[in-house]
Amino acid sequence: HVSVVLFTSDLRLRDHPPLRAALDSAGTVVPLFVRDRAVTQAGFAAPNRSAFLADCLADLDSSLRERGGRLVVRSGDLVEEVCRVVTEADADEVHMAAAHSRFATRREDGLRRALEADGRRLFVHDAVTVAVSPGEVTPSGADHFAVFTPYHRQWARARLRDVVAAPRRVFVPEHVKGEPLPARDDVPGISPALPAGGESAGRTRVSAYWRRGLGAYDDTRDDLGADSTSRLSAHLHFGTLSPVELIHRARRHGGPGAEALVRQLAWRDFHRQVLAARPDAAHTDYRSKRDRWRTERTAGDDIEAWRQGRTGYPVIDAAMRQLRHEGWMHNRARLLTASFLTKTLYVDWRIGAAHFLHWLVDGDIANNQLNWQWMAGTGTDTRPNRVLNPVTQAKRYDPDGTYVRRWVPELAGLGAPAVHEPWKLPGLDRAALDYPDPVVPLSEGLERFRRARDKQG
Ligand code: FAD
Repeated sequence: HVSVVLFTSDLRLRDHPPLRAALDSAGTVVPLFVRDRAVTQAGFAAPNRSAFLADCLADLDSSLRERGGRLVVRSGDLVEEVCRVVTEADADEVHMAAAHSRFATRREDGLRRALEADGRRLFVHDAVTVAVSPGEVTPSGADHFAVFTPYHRQWARARLRDVVAAPRRVFVPEHVKGEPLPARDDVPGISPALPAGGESAGRTRVSAYWRRGLGAYDDTRDDLGADSTSRLSAHLHFGTLSPVELIHRARRHGGPGAEALVRQLAWRDFHRQVLAARPDAAHTDYRSKRDRWRTERTAGDDIEAWRQGRTGYPVIDAAMRQLRHEGWMHNRARLLTASFLTKTLYVDWRIGAAHFLHWLVDGDIANNQLNWQWMAGTGTDTRPNRVLNPVTQAKRYDPDGTYVRRWVPELAGLGAPAVHEPWKLPGLDRAALDYPDPVVPLSEGLERFRRARDKQG
């Protein structure tokens, strides 16, 4: 009796319910990862994530080998490849984690139909990639929460499943062959400071964070220079860490830092349940429509200045350069750059979201598109017309200018507050800087935004 375990966004051995269920039922398993042609063709396999993924697969394979098994990697159409492996292994069943985007649920349905037509079964496990699954908590009379605070209240009371131990031994049938693992070094165009992927790297990061960062998380999470957030997002995206396990650990740890981190993890589940109920929110405005956005055609130069980190607003430029260099950006900086693009430049949020998805190693359809919509005022923010001022915000969240000086070397010689407003320097000092003037005065941006907002009523 053989089972196939299909790994997707859950690239770990610890706290992995599908693997546990497969081993309990069959004893012999094929741990399988399919490099799905549809993902590559949809352009979602951006270089940073492809490289991180290669690390994750290598680490998963080596952990399986330590237990007597190995990872089988195939490429092609996911449904066809899984069916092929099922036939080769003469497996009765396939286990996988539930996923929540339209693409993933369609793929899952296709796989179920194909397997059942052949007399095999698909088992889909909840609470693997999220802690509280979409639909598990709902407001009365609706299929999902559109506002975070009431969602969070119920989410915090939901009962989490227990953590599942990693298997000690894994037996994989000899004759089922895979292809060579992809290698990070084969991926061109990645960020120079891209972090390492894989469950081992994720666990090392968690341990270090628990020792050094967690205690102060609630005080320092918005401090751009301190850079003291967990940086677990890519691991959560690829499932090299389990959200259920993290929440149990944080709750056992206790204290305001741990509580604040758990609350951020609730945001992750919140966006998932929005996207699961409204898959079109990945591309279309979720709640209030805004139109007349400026686009590539009408604001090409402004958009390019934003992408390149040459807007003349130091904190925005620092953030956009961090994104390219690390494949990651601080949450406060994501808010500022998204507000700047959608409110100050009045550019369509989809243009910003696509740029983020190209670079972010944690780039995630639910978190990225819905956070963009939140900031653009088309999403779940209850104050959709808020505009974040990049100068006041920079003075508040980067008071001594550490963050700006780290990423904008042209301004490395300036102290605060000049580093946040170089255009205010006396003429000769300003002229000595090789740094652009603001693409637009803030007052003009605000005026344009207000006009557009008022026209929409
Ligand atoms: P921490 O502050 O340590 O938080 C811990 C974890 O909580 C994160 O790893 C993440 O999984 C979760 N989390 C925190 N904030 C949010 C949030 N607002 N929404 C959802 N989950 C959250 N996060 C992504 O994982 N992928 C994205 O593609 C993404 N795009 C974003 C785009 C914009 C415009 C904005 C404003 C935010 C985006 N975020 C995204 C959310 C957030 O910025 C990142 O999760 C966070 O910065 C990752 O760093 P960290 O792991 O150190 O976070």
